[in-house]
Amino acid sequence: MSGERHAFRTRAIHVGNERDPATGAIVPPIHVASTFVLPGAGEPSEFDYSRTGTPTRQRLETTVASLEGGCGALAYASGMAATHGAMLLLKHGDHVIAGTDIYGGTYRLLHKVLVSSGISVTLADTRSPEALEAARRPETKLLWLESPGNPLLSITDLAPCVAWAHQHGMLVGVDNTFASPVLTRPLELGADIVMHSATKYLGGHSDALGGILVVRDPELHRRLHYLQNAVGNVLGPWDSYLIQRGIKTLELRVREQCRTAQRLAEFLASHPRIERTLYPGLPQHPGHDIATRQMDGGYGAMISFEVAGDFAAAKRVVEGTELFQLAVSLGAVESLIEQPASMSHASYDRADRLKHGIRDSLVRLSVGLEAFEDLRDDLDQALRKI
Ligand SMILES: *Cc1c(COP(=O)(O)O)cnc(C)c1O
Repeated sequence: MSGERHAFRTRAIHVGNERDPATGAIVPPIHVASTFVLPGAGEPSEFDYSRTGTPTRQRLETTVASLEGGCGALAYASGMAATHGAMLLLKHGDHVIAGTDIYGGTYRLLHKVLVSSGISVTLADTRSPEALEAARRPETKLLWLESPGNPLLSITDLAPCVAWAHQHGMLVGVDNTFASPVLTRPLELGADIVMHSATKYLGGHSDALGGILVVRDPELHRRLHYLQNAVGNVLGPWDSYLIQRGIKTLELRVREQCRTAQRLAEFLASHPRIERTLYPGLPQHPGHDIATRQMDGGYGAMISFEVAGDFAAAKRVVEGTELFQLAVSLGAVESLIEQPASMSHASYDRADRLKHGIRDSLVRLSVGLEAFEDLRDDLDQALRKI
């Protein structure tokens, strides 16, 4: 079923999930084989060795490609593996521009790992055309965007950034983990590559690690597949299955998580122990108007806020909740709470963290599927411990 005429949530259930022709099983089997018997020596076959491709991984890739509106997708062992898979397109001497408000692990990959391969990076505020232009060099080959950003939930207007980058011959990759394809589909806005940590909303149940790239151009897909097979960075069949299972309820989960997050953000914005609440769904958020246009019917389920106090005050809050679990990661049914300065963004140099506005008093929430009232009361009692 290619099913492009069907709605998003219908495709999430059916595309890539065709019943097993051998048995009629409504859920296709998990193919665990590492190798496949060939029809004859040197004769081609759809599958030959599982690093190159497996039916189970391919089903997941088909589903995500459909949801993002791409020609194909590639599933990797983790989100970072997928990001690295995209960065393998770069060579010695190339330069990357990435947003200041990016995932801590992407910052680390660019600044601490890829530098030793002769790839350089400049972080720029991707909300500002002047900042982008100032960061550009003749050897800039890739623009890496994230919207909403992490952990400050900054909103980047993707379409104009993509147009600018293409004008200067760059490829554009968008880490779409926070928005999920339910809310934002960057390929429709012109991006070349979409990346997901499938560990988050796609899987949605905190029980599988994975990453995905989706592209529009078959030639780029071929190139990325060549690199992926050469490096061997693939997602195993069990995790492919779990993530595909999670995707069936992706839209329902994300829509409900957005609704709860909106109500929680409004509650936090007027809380006396909080100095500043960052959520794109609040009218006072600087990216609110762009988010309203760019995000499809919701503002995501990530909220950050600065408590009235210092590092210790934020630490007391994140250690003081009962329902919100103290953990990095996000996007699952369980609500999580964390302190970026000591957890998700500890891999930043502190000076860089402060320069980019990630204060010690910042707390980040991932809103899950529990009842709004329970989550509100839990935050309220933790905030009273400051
Ligand atoms: C988690 C995350 C990643 C990295 O994904 P892993 O699956 O943990 O490797 C990248 N980008 C964002 C925005 C993330 O939240």
